[in-house]
Amino acid sequence: MITRDLLIDILKNIGEVIKDNRQYLTDLDSAIGDGDHGINMNKGFKAVVEKLDTVKDKDCGEILKTTAMTLISTVGGASGPLYGTAFLKASMAVKGKMELDKEDILKIFDEAIKGIVIRGKAKQGEKTMLDALIPAYEELKESFENGSSLSEAFKNACIAAHEGVEYTKTIRATKGRASYLGDRSIGHQDPGATSSYLMIKTISDTLNS
Ligand code: ADP
Ligand code: MG
Repeated sequence: MITRDLLIDILKNIGEVIKDNRQYLTDLDSAIGDGDHGINMNKGFKAVVEKLDTVKDKDCGEILKTTAMTLISTVGGASGPLYGTAFLKASMAVKGKMELDKEDILKIFDEAIKGIVIRGKAKQGEKTMLDALIPAYEELKESFENGSSLSEAFKNACIAAHEGVEYTKTIRATKGRASYLGDRSIGHQDPGATSSYLMIKTISDTLNS
């Protein structure tokens, strides 16, 4: 189970990890975009962490909704509305829940992915955050079906997300700014897939600590 306290811890840890990787994400975006992904994400998650104290007594849906609204209002660029929509859809899937079980967690990922697909008009294989999130979701589902614990399943999902990030190096971007480069985007790692991987890694590290 992920209690709301654990959810708060995960979001705080994501804030730390994004801060630590701000330059890395920005460097990745400089190669195929406009070099602001680390700045955008850090600005957003810093604001989220600052809001967490005001929602720590609320349910998981409210915590995720506040995260979503904060990302939407503070993050510029494509990633703000995309991650904002993802967290908003996730929040609606677990409205009123004080803790999250495996089924809730699958719903969160499924809804978040659907949100990005609709908002970004994107699908897997277009060199976006979906290339990390979809394999991670599929691995979570399979791991749960095989009886894995939450922490074990997230370890597996983290590996799948990392493979997804590696895969983005081999493909051409057809969505977002990187698509302006066409074939020249091949060979470069997608910044958004990387930030998604970092979030999944942080969930895994928090659950396994
Ligand atoms: P911007 O591209 O506006 O500068 P960011 O640099 O913060 O915004 O985010 C770029 C990342 O957003 C990309 O690496 C990619 O993963 C993701 N992205 C961009 N456009 C889309 C889209 N239409 N659908 C899904 N993800 C997208
Ligand atoms: Mg950018």
